[in-house]
Amino acid sequence: MQNDKPRTAIVIGSGLGGLSLAIRLQAAGIATTLLEKRDKPGGRAYVYQDEGFTFDAGPTVITDPSALEELFTAAGATLSDYVTLLPVNPFYRLCWEDGTVFDYANDQSEMDRQILALNPKDVEGYRRFLDYSRAVFEEGYLKLGAVPFLHFRDMVRAGPQLMKLQAWRSVYSKVSQYIEEEHLRQAFSFHSLLVGGNPFATSSIYALIHALEREWGVWFPKGGTGALVAGMVKLFQDIGGTFEMNAEVAAIDVEDSRAEGVRLKDGRHFTADLVASNADVVHTYAGLLAHKPRGRETARALKRKRFSMSLFVLYFGLSKHQSQLAHHTVLFGPRYRPLIDEIFKGPKLATDFSLYLHSPCATDPSLAPDGMGSYYVLSPVPHLGSADIDWAREGPHYRERVFDYLEARYMPNLRRDLVTHRIFTPFDFRDELNAHLGSAFSLDPVLTQSAWFRTHNRDDEIRNLYFVGAGTHPGAGVPGVVASAKATAGLILGDG
Ligand SMILES: Cc1cc2nc3c(=O)[nH]c(=O)nc-3n(C[C@H](O)[C@H](O)[C@H](O)COP(=O)(O)OP(=O)(O)OC[C@H]3O[C@@H](n4cnc5c(N)ncnc54)[C@H](O)[C@@H]3O)c2cc1C
Repeated sequence: MQNDKPRTAIVIGSGLGGLSLAIRLQAAGIATTLLEKRDKPGGRAYVYQDEGFTFDAGPTVITDPSALEELFTAAGATLSDYVTLLPVNPFYRLCWEDGTVFDYANDQSEMDRQILALNPKDVEGYRRFLDYSRAVFEEGYLKLGAVPFLHFRDMVRAGPQLMKLQAWRSVYSKVSQYIEEEHLRQAFSFHSLLVGGNPFATSSIYALIHALEREWGVWFPKGGTGALVAGMVKLFQDIGGTFEMNAEVAAIDVEDSRAEGVRLKDGRHFTADLVASNADVVHTYAGLLAHKPRGRETARALKRKRFSMSLFVLYFGLSKHQSQLAHHTVLFGPRYRPLIDEIFKGPKLATDFSLYLHSPCATDPSLAPDGMGSYYVLSPVPHLGSADIDWAREGPHYRERVFDYLEARYMPNLRRDLVTHRIFTPFDFRDELNAHLGSAFSLDPVLTQSAWFRTHNRDDEIRNLYFVGAGTHPGAGVPGVVASAKATAGLILGDG
């Protein structure tokens, strides 16, 4: 007899991946409950409101708006009815300590002019790099980005193309094949850091980010990334989804290799036909499935893998907006490769740093009180497994070092105008977000931990347990986790 009851689903975690999956499932007629540990949605895209300043906690560079549009369309809605995306120009400003400044923009003649000034030969080299980046974008992103790699044969099928694109080479090595000048090599290779990848170790597939930005631009939601999260929550609820905050899952109930539901820390039980986890993959296996051999064994295997770096993030509000700053600025320190080596391998905190500085009021002044400026600066730092740092003690010192550096070089009068500040350290990634080793981006996106080698979008044994988010295919970053939701939703609907 046909059972007419609609299927039900639980999604654990309201990061951008969890939210995207919840929307897709609810839109497909699966009654979905989204459970979030914290008091607000968004995960890494959480929002702080301090003294009239709005601080987006995490993602600020929004690329591939078409993936978001497609998500909203899948739910019968229109993205622009929920959130307005504002173009960002230049995409990034890149600054070095020797005074070199490069405005990376979508204007070819402007790019040519700046490249010419640094090294005339690289104008032609850049064009060839862009061609390469576009080819990888076609293969790696458009064709494979939202395809779940459940079987090794899926990997074998993609093999010839990956070989042709020399995916075994690193981003930096590939960029260096086309471009000679060191500032430009850094300018076109740093992107993998945005998704937690070491440019000297991450597959050159990640060079596709360059083409992706050139194709669709860099955007910022009006009201901040938090406005995108709020729009996604609203859409989910508009189509009938149930969203619970302050709902920390303590365990996933499993009977006969089937997930039956979840138990919360506060004692509540939820049952469902399927469970999907957007929480950290190690936390899910080692914590939520600790009572099952499958959980313990998979956690052991996962813990042997490499995890991407952590971040130190400093949010601050100034009484005067510093209008000389671009929206996104990368501040390269005195060392590139040696610093990145220390960030990825430890064993200690480097004495220098390279920083990303976010100045959202350059695009949207509403994120601070009139005339004031809201900022954050992040410094990639080793995760807790590669450097034993007591961040409770080190955090305030490190904050002062970063403030000193910014004030001396890029933000005059910073301390005089300082109204409010707060930090988020590797300890917070670990404790607030349940991130293994405090990693900011989950598994390191090297080739041997990508696609089939990454946590599968469906567990191999517990057939109705699914994964979505940075630890699964295709990986971290907003386009990555939104694509992972598409891959996972496709599996769930196919398993119907
Ligand atoms: C500072 C920073 C800046 C970044 N900048 C960019 C950028 O500019 N552009 C870009 O594309 N990407 C950026 N990224 C990467 C991007 O933000 C992340 O890869 C992406 O947001 C991760 O989404 P996710 O779906 O994996 O979920 P996460 O954001 O990791 O969310 C997981 C959620 O699960 C919840 N959770 C965990 N355990 C439980 C439990 N037991 N019960 C219930 N809930 C639980 C957590 O509270 C959290 O809300 C940045 C990341 C950081 C940290």
